Amino acid sequence: MSNRPIYLDCHATTPLDERVLAAMLPYFTEKFGNPASISHVYGWEAEAAVKQTREILAAAINATPEEIVFTSGATESNNLAIKGIAEAYFQKGQHIITVATEHKAVLDPCEYLKTLGFEITILPVKQDGIINLTQLETACRPDTILVSVMAANNEIGVLQPIAEIGKICRDRNIIFHTDAAQAIGKIPLDVQTMNIDLMSLTAHKVYGPKGIGALYVRRRNPRVQLAPQQHGGGHERGMRSGTLYAPQIVGFGKAVEIALAEQATETPRLNQLRQNLWTQLSQLEGIHLNGHPTQRLPGNLNISVEGVDGAALTLGLQPVMAVSSGSACSSAVTAPSYVLTALGHPEQLAYASVRFGIGRFNTSQEIDIVAKSAIATIQSLRKQKILVEK
Ligand SMILES: *Cc1c(COP(=O)(O)O)cnc(C)c1O
Repeated sequence: MSNRPIYLDCHATTPLDERVLAAMLPYFTEKFGNPASISHVYGWEAEAAVKQTREILAAAINATPEEIVFTSGATESNNLAIKGIAEAYFQKGQHIITVATEHKAVLDPCEYLKTLGFEITILPVKQDGIINLTQLETACRPDTILVSVMAANNEIGVLQPIAEIGKICRDRNIIFHTDAAQAIGKIPLDVQTMNIDLMSLTAHKVYGPKGIGALYVRRRNPRVQLAPQQHGGGHERGMRSGTLYAPQIVGFGKAVEIALAEQATETPRLNQLRQNLWTQLSQLEGIHLNGHPTQRLPGNLNISVEGVDGAALTLGLQPVMAVSSGSACSSAVTAPSYVLTALGHPEQLAYASVRFGIGRFNTSQEIDIVAKSAIATIQSLRKQKILVEK
């Protein structure tokens, strides 16, 4: 294990916390009941565990337990939110607003709705990755039924001004959905003060298991209608049928509980690690920070590197660190990411980029190893390039 690369890809997924695993295990074995079985103890104990996670998630975002719908993850939650609103409200209007830097699990359902006749406005972002609120206001129309803007970006970590967006939507009676897959457990979220009507969540970005997520669906002021996208036994108040995956749900609750309990100490620790990494890397020439310098997730650092090939950088970093990298036009295999493209620095598209996702189990020693190794790799690639070009 010890000579495997240092894991710094926490926006892709996070390792399962041992405490989460311990909480899950009994629900695979002796407590295997179906939470929907109402006539015996096997069902009751599974249902009690599901209820507890519902309460934890609701408390985490200032919702009520009845407003939590379990899904298989944020991809499904986004699909349910966007298609479910489109289907329920198409008579009111057929216009939806979203943003160029959203996850594909938001953009692709919107693209699909276009084929059904919906009109989609895709807002650009500023060079720092944040939307322009005036542009959002201008884009809102009487037939706009939904605005979908993510809370935290999965590539550049940028935090959108969710409370301001919520206010703009509420003032105009437009439903507001936010993809909070990267945000839950990392930044404060409050569906009341932020006027959020729908929120997508997932467990595996917050040290929980993969394959479990949730959609918050507002029940009061106003009550949001949602057309189910999966029909069956009428689970989750008819919004999402299918036997609840109790062990995963238990893990989701435990993961969020731990993240909230530790957020106050973990946020400054991750900020410090990120700052250490940036301080070291930015001593090199030609290194650019992508996204807003401070309005971002604590564990996220996304850089562009001048003068190296993206594919070569990926290969060079691989033995020491597990990061997400690539994106340079000069290489045949890697295309620039659409998120970086949306930031709109044309020259930057020729640079290689690296996303560091620092998490709970990373140490400052690891960050030092990673910084030294990345610097050595970049310097060596630049030197080789000069030799090749001579
Ligand atoms: C990971 C991620 C998703 C997809 O979540 P899954 O639970 O893996 O389906 C959606 N949106 C964002 C912002 C993400 O980071």
